[in-house]
Amino acid sequence: VKEERGNAFRFFEARMNEHLHARRQLEQDLRYAVERGQLELYYQPLFSCSTNLVEGFEALLRWNHPARGMVPPLEFMPLAEATGLIDRIGHWVIETACATAAGWQRPLRIAVNVSPSQFRRAGLAETVAATLARAGLAPDRLEIEITESVLMEHTAIALDLLGALRGQGVHIVLDDFGTGYSSLSYLRSFRFDKLKIDKSFVQALGNNEDATMIVRTIIGLAHNLGLSVVAEGVENPRQLAIIGAHLCDQVQGYLLGRPMPVDKLAAFTDQAAAL
Ligand code: C2E
Ligand code: CA
Ligand code: CA
Ligand code: CA
Repeated sequence: VKEERGNAFRFFEARMNEHLHARRQLEQDLRYAVERGQLELYYQPLFSCSTNLVEGFEALLRWNHPARGMVPPLEFMPLAEATGLIDRIGHWVIETACATAAGWQRPLRIAVNVSPSQFRRAGLAETVAATLARAGLAPDRLEIEITESVLMEHTAIALDLLGALRGQGVHIVLDDFGTGYSSLSYLRSFRFDKLKIDKSFVQALGNNEDATMIVRTIIGLAHNLGLSVVAEGVENPRQLAIIGAHLCDQVQGYLLGRPMPVDKLAAFTDQAAAL
């Protein structure tokens, strides 16, 4: 028995080492990818529910790993946060997204995700202002998407920062709305421009009566507070119909457009405008 336990322990230890090794390797690869400019932004369209036109794009990070293929952001972003690489990555994302949007024929909006640790860093408002000026992009064409985890800690800092960004004319979107612990209380403490209904609610539409009620309630709540509202994760016509029927302002999802590389954008917007 003793020996068996010993074996079990050595097995466990070996697995732990493997895991740590794999993590360290991925960390090294990510550092290398950042240095070599191997990260890429994809852009997913947001459509107006009233005109059906594209009104903007959300920038989404992609890492095409030479050996593993596409590594999803939910896998490498935590690593970026833990290693501090997030600063460089976050900076690059804002810079690249603004420069791209500045080159568009039409004044569409660009939405950029900002993670909690980026948000905590001093100077985000200054970085954004400088980036907009360099790119020649009007502040109201930039949307910063945050989740409520950003607001949970350091409330005073968050208030100042959101105030400074909105003061410049940048729009603030509360992402993944409805999934956190106190979504409603944040609406009272902070000013936003838009709520994004989390895709878990949107995807339950059509097979769950409660989901329809919740989505309808969020849309009404947003409008009563003077905010606009977007539904993410729309994958089928049924979900789209329910969203549209309840006067949501914008939609986003695989049904209407997947995240795509920058060279596909012009053709996509032209085609969408012709619909
Ligand atoms: P998010 O900001 O909530 O982004 C929405 C996610 O849903 C994206 O996944 C998008 O590709 C996916 N999505 C869009 N439409 C549909 C749909 O119809 N169905 C389904 N099932 N999914 C859909 P992605 O690109 O894998 O990004 C995952 C998360 O990683 C993002 O969630 C965001 O939290 C984070 N992320 C991505 N890019 C960045 C970035 O540049 N900076 C930061 N800080 N975080 C990022
Ligand atoms: Ca987002
Ligand atoms: Ca989201
Ligand atoms: Ca999310």
